[in-house]
Amino acid sequence: SEKILEVKNLKKYFPIKAGVLQRTKGHIKAVDGIDFFIRKGETFGLVGESGCGKSTAGRTITRLYEPTEGEIFFEGENITSKKERHLFNLRRNMQMVFQDPYSSLNPRKTVGTTLIEPLKVHRMYKTHKECREYAQSILERVGLNPSFINRYPHEFSGGQRQRIGIARSLVLNPKLIVGDEPVSALDVSIQSQVLNLLNDLQDEFDLTYLFIAHDLSVVKHFSDRIGVMYLGNMSEVANKKDLYDEPLHPYTQALLSAVPRSHPREVKKERILLKGDIPSPANPPTGCVFHTRCPFVMDHCKEVTPEMKEVRPNHFVACHLH
Ligand code: SF4
Ligand code: MG
Repeated sequence: SEKILEVKNLKKYFPIKAGVLQRTKGHIKAVDGIDFFIRKGETFGLVGESGCGKSTAGRTITRLYEPTEGEIFFEGENITSKKERHLFNLRRNMQMVFQDPYSSLNPRKTVGTTLIEPLKVHRMYKTHKECREYAQSILERVGLNPSFINRYPHEFSGGQRQRIGIARSLVLNPKLIVGDEPVSALDVSIQSQVLNLLNDLQDEFDLTYLFIAHDLSVVKHFSDRIGVMYLGNMSEVANKKDLYDEPLHPYTQALLSAVPRSHPREVKKERILLKGDIPSPANPPTGCVFHTRCPFVMDHCKEVTPEMKEVRPNHFVACHLH
């Protein structure tokens, strides 16, 4: 199927300010040149440990952050340097669901106001009554009582608030939803309910998902394709099955070795423990950014950055072993 999103050599650096004059002392290289695409209708899982740049990547793609370098294409159109006033339609088509359902909703606005404001800004309906009815139908669709429209966020549980966050992302009928760890702040018992809801909504509303997670076990059931990030770089991108059955990048192999088996007949993997800590994104290692921790490091890994290559059909990896 066609690509809805494509990212080429995307970078997002944040300046480090220091001293009384707040001079820039270097940069945090949160995203340091990633390439991948998402096909229409699929769920792309973006995985990595905290600080790997996956959330920054999500926010840069949706243009909540200004990209530092590289290109972003949405439905074939280059949106990298579009100015804010030209992002109006894009904002409608790309929505985000955030991790923390407690801080992502405005505590002073009723659920109704939160849902109806975007409908008015984008002139989706002629009258307030129509907006209100539509907002109520969306509330119902995410499993909430339409009467909740008059209530405030503090009146709800975490799971209910995340359903409101999902309703807010849905009202403008977007094409792509970026979920930034949308279930990781919820109780385990609630997580699968919210994942099932997202899965049902995907078919019903014809959605494409970029699903960001730190946990490979969450994306395992939910994703069609998966990208693994490490220290601002993309290590590997593959179909879910290929990635789980035959991970090619040593970092993916280490991450997967930590995921508990989901079936007793599944082959037990030897746990790969990585040495050392994740280096600082302000001063990433030369060559392959993973070389300080890689069990297979070779001399030239320390000097030459491995390019992302399609080593098997639809299986991309950035590693000198391949
Ligand atoms: Fe390890 Fe070298 Fe591959 Fe990097 S390029 S993952 S250091 S083998
Ligand atoms: Mg699905």
